[in-house]
Amino acid sequence: MKYYNINQPDKFVTLKEATLNGIQGSSSLFMPQSIPAFSAGKIQELQRASLCEIGFEVAKLFLDEEVDTATIRNIVSTSLSFDIPLVHLHDSIHTLELFHGPTLAFKDVGARFMANLFAYFLKNENRDIHILVATSGDTGSAVANAFLNVDGIKVTILYPRGKVSSLQEKQLTTLGGNITALEINGTFDDCQKMVKQAFADADLQSKISLASANSINLARLIPQSFYYFHAVSQFRNLGCDNELSICVPSGNFGNLTAGLMAKRMGLSIKHFIAATNINNVVPQFLSGASFEPKLSCQTISNAMDVGNPSNFVRMMELYNNHSDALRADVKGYSISEELTKETMKEIFSSFNYMLDPHGAVGYAASKFYTEEHPDASVVFLETAHPAKFDNVVNDVLGVAPPIPPQLSLLLGKENQSVKMTTDYSELKDYLI
Ligand SMILES: *Cc1c(COP(=O)(O)O)cnc(C)c1O
Repeated sequence: MKYYNINQPDKFVTLKEATLNGIQGSSSLFMPQSIPAFSAGKIQELQRASLCEIGFEVAKLFLDEEVDTATIRNIVSTSLSFDIPLVHLHDSIHTLELFHGPTLAFKDVGARFMANLFAYFLKNENRDIHILVATSGDTGSAVANAFLNVDGIKVTILYPRGKVSSLQEKQLTTLGGNITALEINGTFDDCQKMVKQAFADADLQSKISLASANSINLARLIPQSFYYFHAVSQFRNLGCDNELSICVPSGNFGNLTAGLMAKRMGLSIKHFIAATNINNVVPQFLSGASFEPKLSCQTISNAMDVGNPSNFVRMMELYNNHSDALRADVKGYSISEELTKETMKEIFSSFNYMLDPHGAVGYAASKFYTEEHPDASVVFLETAHPAKFDNVVNDVLGVAPPIPPQLSLLLGKENQSVKMTTDYSELKDYLI
């Protein structure tokens, strides 16, 4: 399998180049030259396979020319070291719980796979990589956790003081080892500006090998297609034989793009449902308007506050830039803050099920979809555990979410962060 950058479609590179190039702070959007399809028999077989077995078969399609079989198995099983269960909520609506990983968000799957793949590609390279990320919460903790104790890799995370929840701060600051958190006396935008400045600093780059664990890295996208197969097989194994659509709460649209890739591999999915909060540029496009990036608005489902989703061009590329073909496969719904909160309340009181705000956006969109498509069943992805957003959940429901062991273990641990101002020279001195 060869890969290409969407901006340079005639030049083919290896997966190693595509994934390691993607870390130079650049915005290269790599794609596989073609998406390989499984035979109908293989699709049937995968329906009875375990999550790791599915992951292995899918990963092999993309990795097999560059990574040996035993390593692929190993990367898949360490990335998927937790359950991804399908839970029936009511009638034709199910949820796929993607939040049982170490940092309680679906981003664990992509971050862990990427960390293991980097470690493999860098094994004989004899260079140390220094990963620099700015975070407002979820990405930083998934990346930090995934790269903990990976040889040859140091991670520095910048986060804004007082702007992440106390649980998120614990997730970022207590790891130790090769992970350092810098508590910046500023906003998330200040953190991001400092990181951008570091990537633009030729003098710094000549002294250390800087890398980003960018969410557009192809190494995060490939593993996210595994759990779509797992969702469908769990659904079929319940004895359900009607058509199935999958709803994806979306921000940068990496997760949904991975779903479209699974469909292209032969997985039978009627529609994808793109669920967004009020940051609605993709639902607007899907309903016939042109694609118009906007500034993002802040919401309670803040991991989806994206006004210019970076994977939109990948979605279009998968459909050879035929907007109507994309619109035929993907239906979009934008959910207001009010409806997000109402949904959290309703699902808790009717089914005793606690949704986080991102999952609530997914449920509300699924509900609209089933009104228009009454014959289809829907699985919506629950992308984070409600405890990650305990303040919002507590405000809306008046009940605190139970704290899972991954988080309660952290509560007694010490914050080891380094305090810093927004002065770039301080960051540079620290990195050197
Ligand atoms: C990142 C994130 C999303 C959005 O995923 P994309 O791939 O960027 O669309 C949704 N929910 C949660 C909890 C997230 O952390």
